[in-house]
Amino acid sequence: MPTFPFEPTSELAPHLLSGFYIDGQWVRPSSDASVSVVAPSTEQAFATVPVAKAEDVDNAVGAARRAFDTGPWPRMSGPDRAAYLRRMSALLASRLPLLSRLWTAEVGAPVWFADMFVPTATTMLDYYADLASTFAFEENRPTRNGAASIIRQPVGVAALIAPWNAQLPILSYKLGAALAAGCTVVVKAPPETPFDALVVAECAHEAGLPPGVLNVIIADADGGAHLVAKREVDKVSFTGSTATGKVIAKTCADRLARVTLELGGKSAAIVLDDADLNPTLAALAPFTMPFSGQICFAQTRILVPRIREREFVEAYSAVIGSLKVGDPWDMSTQIGPLASHRQLHRVLGYIDSGRKEGAQITTGGARSAQYERGFFVEPTVFAGVTADMTIAREEIFGPVASIIAYDDVDQAVALANDTDFGLSGTVFTSDVERGYAVARRIKTGNVSVNALEMAPNVPFGGFKQSGIGREGGPEGLQAFMEDQAIYLPAGSSSTRKD
Ligand code: NAD
Repeated sequence: MPTFPFEPTSELAPHLLSGFYIDGQWVRPSSDASVSVVAPSTEQAFATVPVAKAEDVDNAVGAARRAFDTGPWPRMSGPDRAAYLRRMSALLASRLPLLSRLWTAEVGAPVWFADMFVPTATTMLDYYADLASTFAFEENRPTRNGAASIIRQPVGVAALIAPWNAQLPILSYKLGAALAAGCTVVVKAPPETPFDALVVAECAHEAGLPPGVLNVIIADADGGAHLVAKREVDKVSFTGSTATGKVIAKTCADRLARVTLELGGKSAAIVLDDADLNPTLAALAPFTMPFSGQICFAQTRILVPRIREREFVEAYSAVIGSLKVGDPWDMSTQIGPLASHRQLHRVLGYIDSGRKEGAQITTGGARSAQYERGFFVEPTVFAGVTADMTIAREEIFGPVASIIAYDDVDQAVALANDTDFGLSGTVFTSDVERGYAVARRIKTGNVSVNALEMAPNVPFGGFKQSGIGREGGPEGLQAFMEDQAIYLPAGSSSTRKD
């Protein structure tokens, strides 16, 4: 049995285990509704946390509304808000080891993976602090009769909803931008990863963020639906599945609430015929199934030239087959468990469908037999996949990659774009100019050549059913703002004094 060296009662303050953070205080939930948090590596419940009911959601939204309508936060200057963000970031930095351990405990992320990606949280808060310090929240433009003052106002109360897979990094994109813009927020943490957002709230509290600016509740889908439907919520920033994104978009459409959606993906890695095998494998293999494939930008469709198909299938299957599956707390483990029982069955179902539809398994293909418990699945490669197969069309969200052969570059591009999704993509080649030209033809929000990159100052998001809007960069800040234009007559010396 894998180890489970995490003890919530000694590692987490009592207020993190029993309540929500609303209006600047740790508060008791309105009911005794609760849920167990299950360690995916052992299948044992290691904590019980409260789940918000409608009354808790209403309280959190009410606090955020008051803080927005009458509090200091939206009225502060960008540099003043930046100072709070920097304090929060510094406090968060001291908690990164805890946040990394939480990621492993809650959803089984291997420790090396969690250690590598938790610093995203401070990076994003620092990035948006820097941006808030310099951003032109106001700008004057001459007009025919005088001037217009363009004011970038915070959009209002923002509901931030992120999934269980990468709660902290995803939340930090949303939170950094929302707070920098001057919004007040309600964070709905998912019951699978309840503690990360509460730790962030601890940092906000210690940083002296005014009451009501950040509110955190733990809620399931019902609580999330109630939050999204609240008239007092002006903006919803959601990351999760395409199916839930569509439901949220419909709810928001009723009152034309602003919405940003970061949804699923079925990203393609195009290996061009001139790609060197070893560097390609080294760059590609970690990104076809990072965190057991439970990452939205995983490069799950690998398109290879037919003339090199056999060579690539053998080499790639050997790399994936050699990945060490096991205890996520062991530093040498490369692939840990899936995050939940639901995930286990979903992924095994897709493996079954690939087999039934005629694709060939070259490595993996089953639940890992090495432990009696834990949601472990062998990293799996399918070869001989065609574009019409279910495994090539639907997001599996597990350690499963499909290799699809193509005859020429036009066909590779067509295959890459033959999907409802449009999140990410990669091109591997020994000729970067050629890679760039191919990348320009891929209909996704992000494409990397000979690597997989994400940077805080660069927008991230999806074409087609991978989402609406962007996070990261100035584009991510703009998503939490409304542009207001005030026209002033000629001769006015000022465009705004408040
Ligand atoms: P999910 O859609 O089931 O749930 C996401 C969140 O939405 C959870 O917090 C859940 O409680 C909440 N929720 C569910 N129904 C709701 C409703 N009706 N109203 C409001 N909130 C509701 O997704 P999941 O299975 O938790 O996460 C995996 C999915 O997230 C995958 O599809 C993955 O691709 C996607 N994802 C996308 C990105 C991205 O940036 N594009 C990043 C990570 C994950």
